[in-house]
Amino acid sequence: MSAPKDELQLQRRDVALEEMSARLGVRAERGRRFAELTSLRVGGSIDWVISPQTEAQAAAVVHVLDGAGIGWRALGSGSNVLADDGEHHYVVLSLKDLKGDVTFAGELVQVSAGYSLPRLCIDVARQGLSGIEGLGGIPGTVGGALWMNAGAYEHEIGKVTETVRVARGGEVVEIPGSTIQWNYRHTSFAEGELLLGATLRLRHGDPEEIMTRMDEVKSRRMATQPHGGRSAGCFFKNPPESMVGTGKMIDDMGMKGARRGTAVVSPIHANFIVTEGENALAADAMALAEEIRERVKREQGIELEYEVELWAANRPHKQDPDATE
Ligand SMILES: Cc1cc2nc3c(=O)[nH]c(=O)nc-3n(C[C@H](O)[C@H](O)[C@H](O)COP(=O)(O)OP(=O)(O)OC[C@H]3O[C@@H](n4cnc5c(N)ncnc54)[C@H](O)[C@@H]3O)c2cc1C
Repeated sequence: MSAPKDELQLQRRDVALEEMSARLGVRAERGRRFAELTSLRVGGSIDWVISPQTEAQAAAVVHVLDGAGIGWRALGSGSNVLADDGEHHYVVLSLKDLKGDVTFAGELVQVSAGYSLPRLCIDVARQGLSGIEGLGGIPGTVGGALWMNAGAYEHEIGKVTETVRVARGGEVVEIPGSTIQWNYRHTSFAEGELLLGATLRLRHGDPEEIMTRMDEVKSRRMATQPHGGRSAGCFFKNPPESMVGTGKMIDDMGMKGARRGTAVVSPIHANFIVTEGENALAADAMALAEEIRERVKREQGIELEYEVELWAANRPHKQDPDATE
């Protein structure tokens, strides 16, 4: 773990960030909390939230941050992140304003990282393009989906990604999707890589049929998952060695409805942890998740792997000069 930054270091960083936001014309805010920026609605304070609006601006921002040795993390819609309740002394680069316009050229669709994935699924369906209708109900941004190869109902974003635009050396650089390993909820993007957008290659189909498939998938989701609630989707991955999905495993242990303070195992889907109340705590969600892991380990001999990303305040991002990981 790194030593806490001293006051002077933080002041210098703050001056550098103010100067950068003025020079690049990018929104930089203080006083935000993860509880406002993540779907679980928990998590502590963030020193700075910086929100670029264009791909070029985002590339310029990370270049400055990296050059100045200022630690940062990218955040889309925060629908796959559990940030702890501590004070997070790094910059959160929020991509939600980096929406741009979706452009179509035949079967190719170009989209920026901050664009809403559900919105994109509707847009492409209307254009009669098929290949991502299974992803329609996944909340989040295109960037978040690319980062962890989001998938559902036989569709995965990596399977249709022709190219990805990333920030390198202050520039927007396009790399072929085929150079990335797209695994189950995991990709080979390097830590500290900022994804700016992508071009997808879809297939022409009948718009009505595509919409119908999207509706079917939506109905299945509505029937099997908590909706409108505060969750991060499936908390754990399905273990490759098990024939039984994680949700069923947790349900079979009788843990639906199990509670730790403000966190509850969803009574609808046992692999979802939901939080409750204005003052919900990440610590409660974490304690409940660990209790599930321990029981699955003890009773099934299986080590569950987190699908949700855990962001610890005292474990700086690798970009942070103080990081010792
Ligand atoms: C109700 C519900 C249902 C869900 N169902 C599914 C499902 O069926 N399938 C599925 O795969 N997921 C599912 N999820 C999880 C989540 O929605 C997806 O993982 C989504 O793709 C995350 O996108 P995001 O923008 O919210 O990413 P965030 O949660 O903001 O970020 C997730 C990770 O991506 C990184 N990241 C985000 N944007 C960028 C970027 N531009 N550049 C670099 N790194 C970036 C972040 O640093 C973080 O590491 C579900 C979540 C909920 C709440």
